[in-house]
Amino acid sequence: MVRKAQSYPTTNRQLRLAIHTAKKSALLYSASDIEVLWDDQLDHHPFLSRIGPDVLSPETTVKQVAQRLMETAFYRRRLTTLLLDQQFLSGLGNYLRSEILFAAGVHPTLRPVDCTPAQIQRLAEQAIALPRQSYETGGITNDLGRVAQLKEQGLTRSKYRFYVFSRAAQPCYQCGTSIIKDQIGGRRCYYCPTCQIHP
Ligand SMILES: [Zn+2]
Repeated sequence: MVRKAQSYPTTNRQLRLAIHTAKKSALLYSASDIEVLWDDQLDHHPFLSRIGPDVLSPETTVKQVAQRLMETAFYRRRLTTLLLDQQFLSGLGNYLRSEILFAAGVHPTLRPVDCTPAQIQRLAEQAIALPRQSYETGGITNDLGRVAQLKEQGLTRSKYRFYVFSRAAQPCYQCGTSIIKDQIGGRRCYYCPTCQIHP
């Protein structure tokens, strides 16, 4: 959490790291594993030196992600595994996996090598666009025009937030088909069998 400088919350949690400026303090509680590194140490860190481009970094481009999807290290792996692999792209969590596949119109069992060039392009676009929209809106990945309509109808955030994630057996916003929930690699994955047709 970030608070006014030197102002601490009442908590039983253990303060592990604090960074102070004249105006603000950034406080990290209850973290189990912390390393504080200089820039040049990042290049030699066993995990951080190998992570993929950060989807929220302005330097990460759609073109770069599209090229990465076609690299030999990645293109025969299932997209459901790839999208959660921080060595492919960093910053994608489990809900974004379902949302990106839906927005790109790609069935969750496919690998990049099974996709058309248009699907690769859409996957790359959505892998950048959705995390950024989510970051700016506090976690909303659904179409923002639709969100405004659903809000007007009185729906709560949990109901309008996602395209498909956590919407098992509810009608797809685009076509009305029931959303399917699958368990892939021990993590929940949701998709629309009509919008994400299996070729
Ligand atoms: Zn659909």
